[in-house]
Amino acid sequence: MRQWNNARGSGTLFSVDLLDEDGSEIKGTFFKQDADKWFQILQEGQVYAFTGGKVKVANKKFSSFNAEYELTFDSSTQINPINDDSRIGSATYAFVKLNEMEALEANKVLDVIAVVKSVEDHAQFVSRAGKQLDKRNLILVDDTCTEINLTLWGDMAKADGSRWEGNPVVAFKGVKLSDFSGRSLNSLNASTLVNDPDVPETADLRAWFDAAGGGSSFKSVTVRNGGGGGSDDAAKKDISQRYTLQSITDGNLGNGEKPDWAVVKATISFIKLDGERLPWYTACPKEGCNKKVTETMEGAWQCEKCNQTHPECQRRYMLSMQISDNTGKAWVTAFNDQGVELLDNRTADELFQMKEEGNDAELEELFSEACFKTYMLTLRVKTDMYNDETRSRKTLQRLAPVDVKAECAALLDAIAKYN
Ligand SMILES: [Zn+2]
Repeated sequence: MRQWNNARGSGTLFSVDLLDEDGSEIKGTFFKQDADKWFQILQEGQVYAFTGGKVKVANKKFSSFNAEYELTFDSSTQINPINDDSRIGSATYAFVKLNEMEALEANKVLDVIAVVKSVEDHAQFVSRAGKQLDKRNLILVDDTCTEINLTLWGDMAKADGSRWEGNPVVAFKGVKLSDFSGRSLNSLNASTLVNDPDVPETADLRAWFDAAGGGSSFKSVTVRNGGGGGSDDAAKKDISQRYTLQSITDGNLGNGEKPDWAVVKATISFIKLDGERLPWYTACPKEGCNKKVTETMEGAWQCEKCNQTHPECQRRYMLSMQISDNTGKAWVTAFNDQGVELLDNRTADELFQMKEEGNDAELEELFSEACFKTYMLTLRVKTDMYNDETRSRKTLQRLAPVDVKAECAALLDAIAKYN
């Protein structure tokens, strides 16, 4: 049972997957008071006669079936249980083996039967839209000696985890294939999960896993750590250890308690120079302090951290810049050390002098010269709240020019692995 909210109102709904004696399947949905009534009564595996309700064209985005139509039940619906009709089997599946996942297109909804090799604890995080999300990761294996990550979402993630323990054989009907981190699977609201389903594959997988299969070395089609997460050095050598700007978003980086780190190969596309804020701030000149200082009436600089007044201040960079890669773009903040590196080893004090002397053209040229260069960038990613909205804050921690020779070796290596 789920809650829905839209412009026309709100309420509860739940869906059933129906199977008849021809082996045809169709989805049926109950809303509001009909949902409240029938959710209590209907039982999985029981045969019923349904009368009343409407037929409509299926919205395949929300359905785990390929059926062209689906049913909406309403207050006119009558449902009567029938003694077990042996002509009706249990759910039909079109299982896809795990070693076929890499060849399939992303976003396909499919059925999988596999052994649950391991299970992670239920985890909660806040989405970019500020919504509380529940997830639980499973690692599935099958007798093709392939393993894949499957993420359960929502109620399926929150539900008691004991059904996943002891390496059960589970049929997953209507799960979605994603190309996040190589290949991975995700549950949908309409997905159904059955432990030890009544199909021949169950016994085959059980026998395989218990005999020797469990100790096999598996080829994983899911890249661990969300397709990145490597150290700077590892990421330079191995492309799979890097993130892209899109995979930072897809992987929900920065949503945990601690910030996440990501190495990306990206191009500086824009550094903000005009605007309400200068690209530097006035900092305390005392070694290691770096605190923002304010000018006193006498023209000196007051540091609240050191509790001292200094005759001079030091300007330090705080650059707001846009970076781009082949998957998208992102705003990143760069502080002083990285700013000096980006801006031709000029200090913020030098640039301040330029501006004081009215040398705006030189300043602008320096900023545009810094653009359209590609670097290996190490970013710190953390989601925070700003004006009641969540946003992903990315700060540049380190940068290195792309070493062309090493990059060619990394690309050749990636191509070899791809084959
Ligand atoms: Zn200070």
